[in-house]
Amino acid sequence: MANRSSTEVRSTCPYCGVGCGVLIDVKAGQIADVRGDPLHPANFGRLCTKGATLHLTAQPTTRALYPGLRRDRGAPRKRASWDEALDLAAERFGRTIWEHGPDSVAFYISGQLLTEDYYVFNKLARALVGTNNIDTNSRLCMSSAVTGYKLTLGADAPPACYEDLDQADCVLIAGSNMAYAHPILFRRLEDARERNPALKLIVIDPRRTDTAAAADLHLPVFPGTDVALFNGMLHVLIWEGLCDLDYIGRHTEGFEALKQAVKEFTPSSVAATCGIAEADLVQAARWFGGARAVLSLYCQGLNQSVQGTEKNAALINLHLATGQIGRPGAGPFSLTGQPNAMGGREVGGMATLLSGHRDPASTTDREEMARFWDIDELPATPGKTAVEIFDAMRDGQIKAIWIACTNPAQSMPDHAKVVEALQRADFVVLQEAYRSTETAAFADVLLPATSWGEKEGTVTNSERRISRVRAAVAGPGEARHDWRIAVDFARRLGPRLGKDAERLFPYEHPEQIYDEHRETTRGRDLDITGLSYAVLESRGPQQWPFPEGATTGKSRLYEDGVFATASGRARFIAAPCRALAEATDVRFPLHLSTGRLRDQWHGMSRTGTVGRLFHHVEEPLLSLNQQDMQRRGLSNGDLVRVSSRRGELRLRVQSAEDVRPAQAWLPMHWGSAFMQGGGTNVLLPSAFDPHSKQPELKHAAVRVEKLEYAWQVMALRSGDALSRLDSVRPLLREFPYATCGLIGRDVPVLVFRAAAPAPVADEAIVRLDAALGLDDDVQVMNYQDKRRGVSKRALVLDGRLVGARLIGETTAREWLKELIASGASAADARRWILAPIASTPTGQTPRGRVVCNCFDVSEARIRAELGAGATLEQVQELLQCGTSCGSCLPELRRMAIETRGTAKPAQPVEEIV
Ligand code: SF4
Repeated sequence: MANRSSTEVRSTCPYCGVGCGVLIDVKAGQIADVRGDPLHPANFGRLCTKGATLHLTAQPTTRALYPGLRRDRGAPRKRASWDEALDLAAERFGRTIWEHGPDSVAFYISGQLLTEDYYVFNKLARALVGTNNIDTNSRLCMSSAVTGYKLTLGADAPPACYEDLDQADCVLIAGSNMAYAHPILFRRLEDARERNPALKLIVIDPRRTDTAAAADLHLPVFPGTDVALFNGMLHVLIWEGLCDLDYIGRHTEGFEALKQAVKEFTPSSVAATCGIAEADLVQAARWFGGARAVLSLYCQGLNQSVQGTEKNAALINLHLATGQIGRPGAGPFSLTGQPNAMGGREVGGMATLLSGHRDPASTTDREEMARFWDIDELPATPGKTAVEIFDAMRDGQIKAIWIACTNPAQSMPDHAKVVEALQRADFVVLQEAYRSTETAAFADVLLPATSWGEKEGTVTNSERRISRVRAAVAGPGEARHDWRIAVDFARRLGPRLGKDAERLFPYEHPEQIYDEHRETTRGRDLDITGLSYAVLESRGPQQWPFPEGATTGKSRLYEDGVFATASGRARFIAAPCRALAEATDVRFPLHLSTGRLRDQWHGMSRTGTVGRLFHHVEEPLLSLNQQDMQRRGLSNGDLVRVSSRRGELRLRVQSAEDVRPAQAWLPMHWGSAFMQGGGTNVLLPSAFDPHSKQPELKHAAVRVEKLEYAWQVMALRSGDALSRLDSVRPLLREFPYATCGLIGRDVPVLVFRAAAPAPVADEAIVRLDAALGLDDDVQVMNYQDKRRGVSKRALVLDGRLVGARLIGETTAREWLKELIASGASAADARRWILAPIASTPTGQTPRGRVVCNCFDVSEARIRAELGAGATLEQVQELLQCGTSCGSCLPELRRMAIETRGTAKPAQPVEEIV
């Protein structure tokens, strides 16, 4: 595979675990465009909406450019030199370790780091500092998949590959809205179904997502009942003679105990437990048991649970019982959420793992790694995992923390506790590419890191495939590579601890780190001793294992039926059914679940800088079933208070047919950088699975109450929208309800919404006007009607409307939004802009949300064509929607079905501000 052309650099997408290859177009030293790499075996040239807009995120405006530090809490951070910042960090960490021991500090890192970054941090924590307190945000994402694999198959290794989608004749998706979360893999599944219409797709999800809507059979189980469902399916497989007894006898152990355990999981009792039809359960089991090859794909719906490990194991049981593993088209395949969660697992970048898939609890493994690193010993005290680290910070046990490439103040559950922990910590270092993440507010030292398009190294995707990540441009300002920052810190900290850090961290290039990491895998299940940067350059991305002498990696594992356990047999696990972390009751009667949107990524620090990525969903909306809406007297767009046992949020509500009665759904992405309050994780509990330590981020018991907030604000501003976001963010706290975000296809436009039961202090509005540049009374058009409580401002520059702020009378908001976003001339519209009555020019109807991001096609336009009798193919030919990246195809198909009358149409959300 060629390394690079004159203008294009081959790298990977930094978002999800599909690990798509990208070609970065560089012009005049800047990232100008991006396209899918046609040679990358994960995506063969395709990208989803997020990947296809990556080049729009490559701008310095939102980046951390220089080190900053503060010596006193409460004081603002000031710009500092790298030497000053690193010296302070080394001095504070050194002193803390000297006074309180190595376990008084912790490292909290990220599945978005490259493998080389991860390796250095792991060595820094264990070999230099002497603590196992190093964990990662992957703990929130896939640690139950790790423990599930290890418990049953003996090693943390997904046994299948993407090509298995083409070979399967039954695909089961559990706890994953793959159409949104892993879109390019879903495209591959759609292709496979087109080639093989007999392929059966079963989707298990409490919500009728676009993935579920595409299924032949959707099992909308009650939250937390997956183990019962899988045990019930196994009951049917056993009862109907659909198990592969020969495979069970030759390659597994523990089947008899499991058989006894699932006796009580009769179809009728399981159907009642799960809230599904008995016939559907039996059908799912029969398709599973009768298929030539079954592939299961699963993600956070199984993992983010207090019994995540057992949910994983119960699904793997089905594959072992039917021999559906270790052959083409078959296997239990965990999809990783983050781009390099797998790479982190390889180097032991979690408290419960050690380099090369070793175990920090094993004396032998620790001794092996100590010899490898040429140090006396590695720490034996178990390390704290994500939730435990922040709990220990609150308790004062952990006094200093180093956070890299992640945003726990947004992403950790039980947000209030995490904020308290960060406030109580003696010393917080944040190594980040973006300067305004929620966690940045707590950093005593902020170290600017390079990011996508600027870094060199490797990542491993969900199918064990290692790809080279390449730098297309230099980092902005004084940003440094993550591995480089860790090495620079280690070399300063070493002498304070009496250790030879120069010897331990001799690296000057990521390839040296990769080569060292490679040696840690020799002879182990993930052996990559046959791989090097040179091999990856010449032959492209490769799957592990790839031992020395091999000519290719392994697509599938366990083809010989020999597993990575002591006996060589896979283990059946009789998983008990355990309750959710918290039950609903009269005070909190609704089951809230959380999930991903199609066009946003995690805490939005990157995707939240691109206006067009807000066009599909502009703001955080709570989805409720129509029955629950009616019971509470709610209409689309109404404001509600959502409360759990930990906290509350105020946001708007929408009716959603995909959510069952007594349930609610909220996207995971919004935090306090984009809304009033702490964001979605204010509501979620920090209870975790005892095996994997993964918290139950998928469920909370909540109540929903209507809010009557008559006083409303809407403000818009183009020009410097990204910089203005930083000025507007503090104002979110001034209103009981407020959100901020962007819109705009090419030029971002800032959108600020707020509401309150009564007018807020004038001072907040004055500050809002100033933040938006709408405070210049000479330039700005102003309309005031104090008696009616109406106040409007608008700014026209060079004949174009560039800013508007409306209070009290906001009917024209959607029209003004489009006028600003389109950059159209304001000449004809001038007299309407501040019209004293709520009005817009005749014939101007807002087009609403955009479904196809590539061709900017709105839902209203698509529905109009479908409603007029056009087929989906005709609509696509006319509007081109869904003909480029394809991310909107599942939604288009659902809309076509709805229009044909086989399902109820979704109700449009009406604006209230
Ligand atoms: Fe990136 Fe989309 Fe591919 Fe995931 S599916 S790696 S987000 S382009």
